[in-house]
This record gives sequence, C-alpha cells and structure tokens, in this order.
Amino acid sequence: MNDLRSMTIEEITAALQEMGQPSFRGAQIFAWVQEKKVRSFDEMTNLPKTLRERLAEVFSLSLLTIEQKLISQEDRTRKYVYALPDGLLIESVFMPYDYGNTACISSQAGCRMGCRFCASTLEGLARNLLPGEMLEQIFRMEEDTGEKISHVVVMGSGEPLDNYDNLLRFIALITHEKGKHLSERNITVSTCGLVPQIRRLAGEHLQITLALSLHAPNDALRKTMMPIANAYSVQETVAACDEYFSATGRRMSYEYSLVRGVNDTDACAQELAALLHGKNAHVNLIPINPIKERDYLAPERSAALRFQKRLENLGINATIRKKMGADIDSACGQLRLKLRTKQGE
Ligand code: SAH
Repeated sequence: MNDLRSMTIEEITAALQEMGQPSFRGAQIFAWVQEKKVRSFDEMTNLPKTLRERLAEVFSLSLLTIEQKLISQEDRTRKYVYALPDGLLIESVFMPYDYGNTACISSQAGCRMGCRFCASTLEGLARNLLPGEMLEQIFRMEEDTGEKISHVVVMGSGEPLDNYDNLLRFIALITHEKGKHLSERNITVSTCGLVPQIRRLAGEHLQITLALSLHAPNDALRKTMMPIANAYSVQETVAACDEYFSATGRRMSYEYSLVRGVNDTDACAQELAALLHGKNAHVNLIPINPIKERDYLAPERSAALRFQKRLENLGINATIRKKMGADIDSACGQLRLKLRTKQGE
C-alpha cells in the first residue's frame, strides 16, 4: 500500500525508518494526513523540503475533488459527487441532524450486489475504495462546509463488507486518537447481508452499529428484491446478526425499504414482527426512492404509517426514516449516473 492516507501510524513509521528517517517522522506525517487533512506533500511544512520531494516520489496521497454539489434550501443537506484520482465518480451526503452532522459515504465505486431497487448497482462494480478515499469523502466535506462531522454512516454506494479489509482499516484510521478520533459508536455500517463477513465482524468486537438491509421477512420475497437472498437465508442472516449483538452488545438496526404492493402489506408486517420478536433491534422503514430503471413505487404515506403502527403494536421498535434534502432528492447513486451520462454525451 503506498497511499499515505490509507496507512497506519506504525506502517508510516516503519516506511520512513527504512528511508533512513528518525522514528518521530511517522507520527508527524500521520498527523498531516489524518488530522490536518492536507491536500499535498508541500503542506507538510515541518518536514525538510528534500524529504517532502522524496515522499511525493514514493507515496501517493488520496485526494478527492468535488465534481458536483447540491445544497438543500430546506434543511442544509448537501449531496456531493466526488471524482476519485482515477476519474471514477462516487456520491456522498452531508446531513445536519439534531444530534450532529452526519456523513453518508460510499465504500465502493459501483456495486456488484444487484439489489433490484438500487441505482448504485446498475452498472456493476468499478472498484473498491481505498481507506484513504473513504476518509477523504469526510475530510473534503468538513473543508467545504466548514463544519465538523460527528457521525458516519457507510450507506452510500457499494457493499462495505465486500471491501472488508479496507473498511476495517478505515475504521481504525478514523477512530485513531492522533487522527480524526471519531468514536466507534458514531459509525454505522450497513450491509445487504454477507453472512460470513457479519460473523467475522462480530469477532472484531468493535463498538460500531451494524445495520442489515433486510427488506423482506421471508426468503421467497427477499429473493425477488435482492440476489444475496439466494446465497443466504433470512434465518441464517438474522442468526449472524444475533451473533453480532451477543459479541458486541450493540443493538441491531434492520433496514426495510417499503415498496408499494410488494413488501408493505399487513401480512409482511406480521411476519417481520414474528421474525424479530424478542430481539434487541430497531427497524428503520425507508419508503423506496423509485429509480426510473425499475418499476418499484413508494407506498402512500398512510400505508407506511400503518406498517409502522402494526410493527409497534406487535412490540417491534420501528421508525420511518426522515427524508433529508427532499428538494435535491435523487435516489442513492442516481446523481452519479446522471453526471456520467452527461459527460459521455
Ligand atoms: N450495500 C449496503 C449499503 C448501501 S445501501 C447495504 O445494502 O446495506 C444503504 C441502504 O439504502 C440499504 O438498506 C439499501 O437497501 C437502501 N437503498 C438502496 N437503494 C434504495 C432506494 N432506491 N430506495 C430506498 N432504499 C434504498
């Protein structure tokens, strides 16, 4: 790995020692890339110029540029399309919630999971993001808004557990006391349900929140919405989430995107309640954001409320996700696709 923003303090220290530099250089450089979030080697002003030049030869430095930005007039939500160093585009969102500014970041350019309702997967996976590229989405947002980000949700494009090692490294870097020093508890990772990786994550004993994209209470229905349901059953997926809760004590969050006439029926609410009965879990209902490539529609507001009430009456904690930035609305991953098409013309 030669992206400086993706390296741990120990790795940077070892690499610098190999270059004949004193050991304190590692911590100095780590602070430049993780705490001061520099854009170039030239900004590392406490290093000799010759060393800065040498670093620029040996290492790269993840840096994202803002390709497009939409700012909501209603609630200050901002949507960003960033260009990666190789020109690929990704999306991130800045959301000013009451409890703190939240960054929704991407973990991959594109996605190979193929969920039927999702725009990010329409063109498949381009590549995994480096840890430094995940960090950069947050750093450039803080720079652009002039505000601190206190919460991170890995719910942008991509399947984070399909980029497992880089995700774990990202978490280690962003929580490092000499870097941004975010609390693990303020990080949420959302997965479509890669069961072996959920189990592995349980074994890491992190304090992050895990969100599972369930979207259907049984295998038959889930298979029509998410190809991953062909690999793992609902039962074994929820069992892996139980394991995550037992290992970490972190309450599970289940995401359930409501699709009109597909998974928003009373029967589905009952089946979902039975599935999650007695668990320490929270259900996040997300009225589907329709994409033009698919025929799914959002339920009426009254149907969403009815589904939520039904769950609550059956003892399941459920909220309807607050829609942020409605005036700049476009479903996850759609902005990037629009921009790509425009550029291709
Ligand atoms: N790959 C991860 C994280 C990215 S998607 C995952 O599957 O969880 C974040 C959440 O948004 C997931 O629950 C996903 O299913 C949901 N989602 C994707 N497209 C959507 C759409 N058009 N409308 C509503 N929810 C959507």
